[in-house]
Amino acid sequence: MPNKSRSAGHVPFRTCIICRKKTEQRSLLGFFILGNEVIFDVNRMVNNRKKYVCHQVECLNHLDKWMSKYLKKTGSSQRRTKQM
Ligand SMILES: [Zn+2]
Repeated sequence: MPNKSRSAGHVPFRTCIICRKKTEQRSLLGFFILGNEVIFDVNRMVNNRKKYVCHQVECLNHLDKWMSKYLKKTGSSQRRTKQM
């Protein structure tokens, strides 16, 4: 038996981090945060800790704000300049 296709036909839903609307995963934009940058997962390469935002301009426009909030919360925004 090749696979357990128990979930065949099941569409995964994800929540947009901005508007909190649940939408089909494929119509959302997946991204993850690396350091203090948003990396869009265009190649669907990373699976864990991915976040989703809708394609709507309103949501994408809010992503910047969300990001700075997020960085403040996680304390990973380092404003100090490191001297190498
Ligand atoms: Zn949204």
